[in-house]
Amino acid sequence: VYSRPERTNRLGTETAYAVSLEASQLKAKGKTIYPFHIGDLNFSTPQVVIDAAKKSLDAGKTGYCPAAGIPELRKALAQRIGGDRGIEYTMENVSVQPGGKPVIGKFLLSVVEDGEEVLYPSPGYPIYESLIDYHGGVPKAYTYIDTGSEFKIDIDQIRSLITPKTKVLIYNNPSNPMGALSSPEEMQALADLCIQHDLWVLSDEPYFDIVYDDAKFEHRSIASLPGMQDRTVILYTFSKNYAMTGWRVGAAIGPKEVIDQITKLNTNMEACTSHFLQHASVECLEKRKQTDQFLFDMLAELKDRRDLLVKLVNEVPGFSCFTPPSTFYLCVKVTKAMDMLGFKNIEDFRRSILAETGVSFCTREHFGEAQSFDTDHYVRFAYSSASQETIKTALTVLK
Ligand code: PLP
Repeated sequence: VYSRPERTNRLGTETAYAVSLEASQLKAKGKTIYPFHIGDLNFSTPQVVIDAAKKSLDAGKTGYCPAAGIPELRKALAQRIGGDRGIEYTMENVSVQPGGKPVIGKFLLSVVEDGEEVLYPSPGYPIYESLIDYHGGVPKAYTYIDTGSEFKIDIDQIRSLITPKTKVLIYNNPSNPMGALSSPEEMQALADLCIQHDLWVLSDEPYFDIVYDDAKFEHRSIASLPGMQDRTVILYTFSKNYAMTGWRVGAAIGPKEVIDQITKLNTNMEACTSHFLQHASVECLEKRKQTDQFLFDMLAELKDRRDLLVKLVNEVPGFSCFTPPSTFYLCVKVTKAMDMLGFKNIEDFRRSILAETGVSFCTREHFGEAQSFDTDHYVRFAYSSASQETIKTALTVLK
């Protein structure tokens, strides 16, 4: 007889997948679905990377490889991630991972003792809350402020949450689901706080390169601020930049002592990240002419989608949003629409819209159980897998 161990009760999930399932069940029944619920991309991985994967298979790169990753990829990542952020890393600072997500749990296991507190954003990637709890840490949510023209982290709130038991700050900048980007001053204030209270930082950076307009010129990694490199681990992933979500290649990058622990967890959990994919990932970083062009073109398309979506969403009665500077997520306030239609519960609102119009999005409920964010109701549109044509049709239907 199966009896579930107590600790699994503490494990949460990524509830956006439940929305995907609902949408695909409706699609199977013949309903047209307009997919805005998941941060996957309808772009193909750059051909040069696909060719490199085939080539490495043909070259027999099919056996086990070192748990920390092949030296070529570790070196290439140290150079690129450090170079882009103005930080000196060597391959000793890099542990290759099967995607970005595994870095979260492995970092927590490597740094946090039972009962120590971890600050994390809510709304935020739901895996933070799930894994902090699961691995014996105490989750403490910090939130965002809606200023009317942007979402900002609240440094005073973060300061007020710090106690002698606080060990880690999880910082996701640019952020999912808000599309928020900290100003240099905010980031410096956060870094000062981490240094003052001797906190470790997990800098979750899947969207580091997905920043639009002038914001990209002043955008930094918190790891590059004075005094931060030795207390920060960066979560890097190939998933979003190169439309490689299903490939599962990423890395933890940071101080060697923590990286060594993370690699020890690789040995215990996966042995290594898929060998031939690591060789393809080296080419992804080295064939810059092709892959930089890919990213450049993708960003131009994403920016057009963003501008179109912002304009059309604001034409839907009771929906309002402002233009986010980063990511491919749009956070939309729907309090008025819910009032107009007589909904009290945002999930009822979402399900009803999905059933009637086929427009599928996530709600604030999918981004962490700590419901501290504002009293208004928000939903998230991901525009990474909807073409401009789809956006136009979907928003006409919604309106
Ligand atoms: N962190 C954030 C904030 C994300 O949005 C995601 C993916 O959506 C990840 C981490 C995980 O990235 P990956 O798909 O490479 O595991």
